[in-house]
Amino acid sequence: MKKLIIDFDSTLVKVETLDKLAEKALENNANYEKILCEIKSITELGMVGEITFPESLSRRIALIRTNSKTVAEVAKTFEQEISNSVLANLEYFRKNKEDIFIITGGFEDLIFPTTDKLGIERSHVLANRFVFDEKGILTGVDKNSLLANVNGKSNQIKALGLQGEIVIVGDGWTDFEVRKSGVANKFIAYVENVFRENVAREADYVAKDFGQVIEYFDSI
Ligand SMILES: [Mg+2]
Repeated sequence: MKKLIIDFDSTLVKVETLDKLAEKALENNANYEKILCEIKSITELGMVGEITFPESLSRRIALIRTNSKTVAEVAKTFEQEISNSVLANLEYFRKNKEDIFIITGGFEDLIFPTTDKLGIERSHVLANRFVFDEKGILTGVDKNSLLANVNGKSNQIKALGLQGEIVIVGDGWTDFEVRKSGVANKFIAYVENVFRENVAREADYVAKDFGQVIEYFDSI
């Protein structure tokens, strides 16, 4: 009855998807370096817990001026960015898909092509939603989603009403917060792509790759 909750950015895939969208969206902007640097530092502030996730999200979206076409284009590229050890364990995803959930502060439009490829049903993928205007211009974030708000991951997991022990795996502070809030029983810090000292310090277990996640998950 155990459930495995997996983060997306820098865990299931090697990259931060919103940063990649920004790179593409701003590629012809005269202030490319400056704006990108600002976006990455906001991401990092959120990841280490210096600012709240909703603040990090709205500040970044405001800096990325793009449209639905670019979003779809960039989303296709993440299928090539799946973490190496995740690719090596595709069979595990197929066999255990009933007990696996992807919960991310990222966006449906950016991640669905990749989770589809991994064979994870969309009902098991909880993510934020972009808001576009009638011309397809990105204007913001759907604030009705639990994930767009403070303690989003914890509240979203609670809303799923899962039975049994919950193990959450991720690289960021928001993943640890789920364990801290008591919604998850264990937190695995995932360091294959990024190592964050303050996150790893709080973990029940530090996994260097997905094989170690499986080993730990099966052992508890
Ligand atoms: Mg992450």
